[in-house]
Amino acid sequence: MHDKNALSLDAAILLLVCVGGLLLLSCKKQPALPRPVSDTPPESPSNEPEITPAQTTESAKTEPPAWPHPRSDEREDDRRRMAGVIERVYGLKDKQALAAIRNVPRHWFVPDHLQAQAYFDGPLPIGQGQTISQPYIVAYMTSLLGLDESKSVLEIGTGSGYQAAVLSELTPHVYSIEILEALGKAAQKKLKDLGYSTVQVKIGDGYKGWPEHAPFDAIIVTCAPDHIPPDLIEQLKTGGKMVIPVGGVFRVQDLILVTKDAEGEIHKESKMPVRFVPLTREKSP
Ligand code: SAH
Repeated sequence: MHDKNALSLDAAILLLVCVGGLLLLSCKKQPALPRPVSDTPPESPSNEPEITPAQTTESAKTEPPAWPHPRSDEREDDRRRMAGVIERVYGLKDKQALAAIRNVPRHWFVPDHLQAQAYFDGPLPIGQGQTISQPYIVAYMTSLLGLDESKSVLEIGTGSGYQAAVLSELTPHVYSIEILEALGKAAQKKLKDLGYSTVQVKIGDGYKGWPEHAPFDAIIVTCAPDHIPPDLIEQLKTGGKMVIPVGGVFRVQDLILVTKDAEGEIHKESKMPVRFVPLTREKSP
């Protein structure tokens, strides 16, 4: 009797250990998405964890789009590894967004002195106090927009032009506005010279949107206002989606997905905490 009880206690402990072990293993296998991130440059970019060769992705093989696109084998392994990290470490499953990240050479949009860091998963300075966003954030925001080649998208904050190039992998109808003339002109020239010829860039205050091309199926804002600009809501089609970081200057902001339903009602969903450079306003004449 005593032995039998001891045996069943041993068996129960063994069972508990096994179940605990299995639970631990399954937790480790499922990385959480989304996770809080910063979009301001790291104090020392060299502290960023480098993407390792083991982290590759096989998914997201898609046909090249029907409109003009540059294709290059420069730093292809780096891009593949970066997409692999976004897919496996962050858990992003959107095949089209992952393919876009793999296809656009990020180092083309990063300043010369930061070429070594071009495929770290972090934001980097691009001059004028601005940044090229973290690759995971670029992929995640792109995936929220529900783009296909029939859809038009407006970006506020062209910066380096990288996000615009990523968007142009999914649709030929990309419009992007940059308030800083030097950055806007440089991005305009770069996108044209590289062959992203369908992207249209203008210099101006994106707070007011781009009424001449409105309404848009999607709007992506890559600088943070402290409220959602009313003109952007106005310029969103019914059924359209806007992704926008909202919050105070140099604080953690809320990445919000705004949808306009078939009745024109606005719905807001908070997706994750982020940190973007502020949306600034044009000075009145
Ligand atoms: N999407 C960019 C990152 C942009 S950083 C990339 O892929 O590189 C944010 C950019 O928004 C900066 O270049 C900044 O000058 C711009 N910006 C800030 N306020 C703006 C406004 N009101 N209209 C348009 N651009 C704005």
